[in-house]
Amino acid sequence: MNWITNYVRPTINSLFSRREVPDNLWTKCDECGTMLFHRELSDNLNVCTNCGHHMPIGARDRLRTIFDGGIFVEVAVPEPVADPLHFRDQKRYTDRIKDARKKTGEKDAMLVAEGEVGRTPVVVAVQDFSFMGGSMSMYVGNAIVAAAERAVALKRPLILFSAAGGARMQEGILGLMQMPRTTIAVQMLKDAGLPYIVVLTHPTTGGVTASYAMLGDVQIAEPNALIGFAGARVIEQTIGEKLPEGFQRAEYLLDHGMLDRVTKRTDLKDELVTIVRLLMQQSAPVKGDLPAPVTPAEPVPAENAPAAPADVDAPK
Ligand SMILES: [Zn+2]
Repeated sequence: MNWITNYVRPTINSLFSRREVPDNLWTKCDECGTMLFHRELSDNLNVCTNCGHHMPIGARDRLRTIFDGGIFVEVAVPEPVADPLHFRDQKRYTDRIKDARKKTGEKDAMLVAEGEVGRTPVVVAVQDFSFMGGSMSMYVGNAIVAAAERAVALKRPLILFSAAGGARMQEGILGLMQMPRTTIAVQMLKDAGLPYIVVLTHPTTGGVTASYAMLGDVQIAEPNALIGFAGARVIEQTIGEKLPEGFQRAEYLLDHGMLDRVTKRTDLKDELVTIVRLLMQQSAPVKGDLPAPVTPAEPVPAENAPAAPADVDAPK
């Protein structure tokens, strides 16, 4: 017994404890099962380095990755009346909000910020799926109105990243009212002649796809993002037919004319800069920094010196 308790058990315990890896250091890809080191994954913007699967990225991380140097200023969003319907299902709505705020560290399901993307001033709104499924609440409506008003005031384009399960049922009709309200906010941008670009991320469904998420001048989606109004199962049951493969996925929607682009997250920033500058009639984006000035060690001989522009253009 002594030999077992003093030698065998500690040996077995040490063997098992040695294999334990802190689970926050490694993330398993849902698509291909590859174990990805956290730094490798975050450096690649949460895109699997093996198969290219796009994993969720937090709203605040999205802002950090999109703005130059991760620098941005948040735009204040007016707070709506809390829980006007005194809604309660298994839990009180106020408790659900409290839990979601604790979990995400955010006020509600949308962040608005201003800053520069590729040295181009823009306003960006990001919907946060981790906050109650990114559901469209009065706060989200306020955030979109605030984003549109800020963009108009600064004469900047608005880029919106959508991710939602639909309207927030705890706010009932008040949640649904955000559909026409945000549509008017988008119209403010159009009246001001400012571009409104939507990037649909996985998943964007429900009332959000029936309002601001589908009103962009340019509609971009991340690869394999689920985008639709009603769920596939509901549609199948309603029409009594089997739906085609890839239905409601970004690539399918692109093939059927619902989207303009499907762009990898790693290419997104460059693409947004190009589109925004084109629509704002600004010069093409400058990539990287200009090289440092070099002072020549010796004076350049006259015959090797580059011809002056005046000589080139002079009529012969
Ligand atoms: Zn993968």
